[in-house]
Amino acid sequence: MSWVREALNALELGRDVEVRPRGHSMRGRIADNELVRLTPFKGPVRPGDVVLVRWKGSALLHLVLEVEDDRLLIGNNRGGVNGWAPISDVVGRPAMSSPPHLVDIGVNLAHRSFEPDLDSVLARARDANVMMVITGTDVPGSRKAAWLAQQHGLYATAGIHPHHAKDYAPRHLAELKALKPVAIGECGLDFNRNFSPRDAQLTCFEAQLGLAAETGLPLFLHERDAFDDMKRLLEEHRPERAVVHCFTGGAAQLDAYLELGVHIGITGWICDARRGSHLLELVPHIPPGRLMLETDAPFLSPPGVPRRNEPAFLPKVLEAVARARGEPPEATARHTTETATAFFRLAKP
Ligand SMILES: [Zn+2]
Repeated sequence: MSWVREALNALELGRDVEVRPRGHSMRGRIADNELVRLTPFKGPVRPGDVVLVRWKGSALLHLVLEVEDDRLLIGNNRGGVNGWAPISDVVGRPAMSSPPHLVDIGVNLAHRSFEPDLDSVLARARDANVMMVITGTDVPGSRKAAWLAQQHGLYATAGIHPHHAKDYAPRHLAELKALKPVAIGECGLDFNRNFSPRDAQLTCFEAQLGLAAETGLPLFLHERDAFDDMKRLLEEHRPERAVVHCFTGGAAQLDAYLELGVHIGITGWICDARRGSHLLELVPHIPPGRLMLETDAPFLSPPGVPRRNEPAFLPKVLEAVARARGEPPEATARHTTETATAFFRLAKP
């Protein structure tokens, strides 16, 4: 077997390593594994290069993601082992590149449209290197989201969407909490459609603001045409961590949310030339650390993909956001993934 083939096979196992070159000779280890081979770099290493790492008898191809003063960040598509690593020959410009790791912070995987082919949907998401936070939108839906997350090694929120606020009863709070979600929500206010009366929406939302404070969990917020009330309640409750999912508002609203310390979730809305073009001008103003990506699947399909949206299409959102921000997609992927990982306290990819 050629080393290339061997390396490609090894890559499938998935490992992320951090490499620290020290002049021309490097010493290191991968976790606590024995160092197998040391080879000096030849010439400068740049992002986009593919490097071969040998250890424990196997060879791993990695993509160089970042080059800083004394630090190289290289990675492949699945995490596992972190630590010091030896590195061998630089084998050239991307012979292969693994898609950057992304987190879809809002996917309605419990939606019935996913029932017939959920396994394929999950497989495509895995191939696209997309981790998922499944959205819970009412008590039964949150239960299903929690169950799916447990079955498939994903994460889930638990909450009551403003559309379902009319069905809210105080006992639901304990039921949501028992699901051990990574966030409270989807919750908030929707005065656009008013599927539930406003009073009911306010009561249900305030109860969940309380639940988030009690549990220390972040909030996954939905707001449509209800900015003033949302802002008032956020000012009153001052949640420690909150994300306005599927942000579609204007500049003033974005500024207000950022000032309140709120995070911003961007969906394929930004790809919609008719309704979402204003977001192209706004996303550059969201600082890294406050921006996260989501599909809101099965809704909000970006153009050029099937009508039913799915998490595997998150790279479309990434591309649009990166282009609007003037960033390489890898950079946008990196900071949005770091933000989502920290915000929801996910296991490190
Ligand atoms: Zn929503």
